[in-house]
Formats: sequence, structure tokens, C-alpha cells
Amino acid sequence: MLERIRIVLIGTSHPGNIGATARAMHNMGLSDLALVAPRCAPLTAETVSRASGADHIVHSARRVERLEQAVGDATLVVGASARSRTLPWPMITPRALGERLPEELASPEARVALVLGREDSGLTNSELQRCHAHVHIPANPDFSSLNLAAAVQVLAYECRQAWLGQQETAAQVEAPPSQPLASHEELEHYFAHLERTLVAIGFHDPATPRQLMARLRRFTLRARPERMELNILRGILTATEQQVEHHE
Ligand code: SAH
Repeated sequence: MLERIRIVLIGTSHPGNIGATARAMHNMGLSDLALVAPRCAPLTAETVSRASGADHIVHSARRVERLEQAVGDATLVVGASARSRTLPWPMITPRALGERLPEELASPEARVALVLGREDSGLTNSELQRCHAHVHIPANPDFSSLNLAAAVQVLAYECRQAWLGQQETAAQVEAPPSQPLASHEELEHYFAHLERTLVAIGFHDPATPRQLMARLRRFTLRARPERMELNILRGILTATEQQVEHHE
């Protein structure tokens, strides 16, 4: 289970935080690290020093330019946020996230990505809106922003506790096989298709968006659609597009 949980760091500026993240991950048995557009050289002497023997995690980390490339195959994407944003999104605690993991990762194809933001500015609204849910560490409300690697430590700890709990109950009955959920990439293709169609039928005007796409995203992501369900919705969009062309 732990090998299918990925830590994704976006735009990190301090190599020491990358090293400390690797250490926090290895301490808790996580190994999959992705670095999205780091704003520093990820592997410096400081990285190695702060990793304290876990720098192999940084060596094997995937380095990509865009969030999509780091979470494309993930069936659950959770963004870690130090503060609440304008459009409320499903918000969970690290404990609740851990409790969800055994079921989320029951199918061998399932992948969970935990996305953390920049030291200075966190995650952007557009990055947060690409997540199924947000996780907030309920810290002191007057001083709620943790150091990046410390936030990774808290989340990784809850992942490990959930995994340990699952080991204890391993003898229990197997969960029924579930249908494969849509991946992040499949969802993004669907949202792009939906937006094109809504523009074509005159329902959506990108010049006055009024958060329409954000609200539709939140609604769809809350439903956790299966791949098959998304295929049905895309079929409806294709048929709608064909009708529009037919009447033009
Ligand atoms: N100053 C930034 C926070 C940067 S901390 C801001 O105001 O948004 C760097 C990252 O650590 C954040 O983007 C978030 O992913 C994570 N983080 C820090 N504190 C957190 C908290 N209390 N709950 C969840 N994630 C947190």
C-alpha cells in the first residue's frame, strides 16, 4: 500500500526541504517522490545532509515540469493546504485521509498523490482545483503554516499508521473487487471536453466564467467517477457536439 502513495512537491525553493522530505518519507516507509518544477537544484550537499541517509529517494524522484505529469495516473489526488481558499472544497484531516487509504488503495491499479506547495506561496487555486480533496493539518490557527518537510512528516505518519492498522486486520475478509476509478488524466480530458461542449451549446461563456468550471469540477471530483461512468459522460458530450454540428 505505501509504495502506491506519492509525495508531490511543487516549486520547492530550498534543497534542505527536499532532503528533509526524503528523510520523513523513508522514516515512514514511503518511497515515491515527484518534484514539479523545483525552483532550486534538488540534489545539493544540503539535500544529502538533511536526508540523513535517505537521499536515494531524491535520486530516484521523478522530475517534471507540470503537475499533470506527476499525478496523471493517480486515482486520488489530495492537495495539502495551510489555509482555506475562496471556493470551499472537500476538506479532510490527515487522520481521516489515513483512514480512507486502505479502501482507496484496495485495487492494485489505484494510486494516491499527496500534493504540497511552495514554501512562500503554497498551492495556486488552479492547482487546488485539480485535487479531489484538500487536507489541512489542524495546527494553531494563529500560526498554521508548517515547514514543508514537517507537513510531509505529519501526512506520511498518518499513512503509516493506516498501513500498520491494516496489517493488524490483514486476516479479515478481502474487500470486494471494485471498478477501476477514473485517473486524473481521464478526468482532465473529460473537463476539457465538457468545457468545449458547454461553449459550443452556448451555456458557458469563458469571458464571464462565474466559477462554472470550478463548480463542475468540485461536483464531479466529489462523485469519484469510475472510468466506465466517465466514458458514458464523454459519449453524451460527443453526441451533443454532433447534434450541434448537424444543426449548424
Ligand atoms: N505560506 C504558504 C504555506 C507554505 S508551507 C501559504 O500560505 O500557503 C508549504 C506547504 O506545506 C504548503 O503549500 C502545504 O502544502 C504544506 N502545509 C504547510 N502547513 C500546512 C497545514 N497546516 N496543513 C496542510 N498542509 C500544510
